[in-house]
Amino acid sequence: MKNKSTLLAFILATAASGTTSVWADDKPFSIAIHGGAGTITKAKLTPEQQQSYRDKLTEAVNAGYKVLEKGGDSLVAIQAAINVMENSPLFNAGVGAVYTYDGAHEMDASIMDGKTMNAGAVSGVKHIKNPIKLADAVMNNSPHVMLSGAGAEEFALTQGFTLVPANHFDTESRYKQLQDAKVKLRKAEFELKAKSPDYQASNTAPQIDYLDLDYKFGTVGAVALDKKGNLAAGTSTGGMTAKRFGRIGDSPVIGAGTYAENGVCAVSATGHGEYFIRYHVAGDICARVKYQHKSIIQAADEVINQRLITAGGTGGVIAIDQRGNIATPFNTEGMYRATRKNGEPADVMIWRDM
Ligand code: ASP
Repeated sequence: MKNKSTLLAFILATAASGTTSVWADDKPFSIAIHGGAGTITKAKLTPEQQQSYRDKLTEAVNAGYKVLEKGGDSLVAIQAAINVMENSPLFNAGVGAVYTYDGAHEMDASIMDGKTMNAGAVSGVKHIKNPIKLADAVMNNSPHVMLSGAGAEEFALTQGFTLVPANHFDTESRYKQLQDAKVKLRKAEFELKAKSPDYQASNTAPQIDYLDLDYKFGTVGAVALDKKGNLAAGTSTGGMTAKRFGRIGDSPVIGAGTYAENGVCAVSATGHGEYFIRYHVAGDICARVKYQHKSIIQAADEVINQRLITAGGTGGVIAIDQRGNIATPFNTEGMYRATRKNGEPADVMIWRDM
């Protein structure tokens, strides 16, 4: 029993129904969010920066929690949380999206409804302020699951979205990250040439995994269980700094970066997308829960801290099960994250211990 008012509600409901089994408010609900995983060392963040992240994560998780507390849908709750993070330059999504190699912003997002198994996704959009909203529109108002680039934006116009100019997403800190990434790329290419004289520089430089550069923090995501027992998951990202050639990561790929299925689990991922796609991370976690009857903690841990580590993939997930249990494993130094369960205060973390 959480507090006096819920106790009173329980007594009244019990008296009215003559039974102790009817108590609508006793349904579990909870939400988890992430703001990206990576080499977030304690030395890298000043106390002020840390506080800014913690404040924004608290605001985001509370925005979603409020929806759930009032009996709202998990789909609405996760979007409320994701919108807060997309509208903050702290995260690599929406206004804080990273730059591509060519100095543009190309965003990906997806959403999944565990009740209907419906899903929507957009990839490579350049003028959408809140890509998660467009993913939701794709899910609800189109016969498709994923729309990309100019076509997705054409669809957005039919849905009443206003396209924002590309420079809406320009930030100094992300621009500096791109310049740093380019310096590292040139250095890597130089070293490669020195090692193998017959190496031919090419546009694609396939030998250099530029995605290994540590410029990929800040993807955002949310998972929630509402009082009706419905699970939902959503993810939104600018992708990876210096990405090229229309590269799409795991975030808009259902089963890789996002997955939700009622009675099983909901997952949103962040990390090196190429691994999350190939290892089908979100779907694999839920499959372990569904078919092997593993707890959400065990299933998520096995995939992130065993399977992915063996493969060389870095990142983490937030995952929630049908009873509102939450797992937030990551195999990187840190992962921005927050959780909130019914009747409890928000729990906001960056590293393993704080
Ligand atoms: N998973 C995202 C991608 O590969 C990046 C991230 O989560 O930080 O595009």
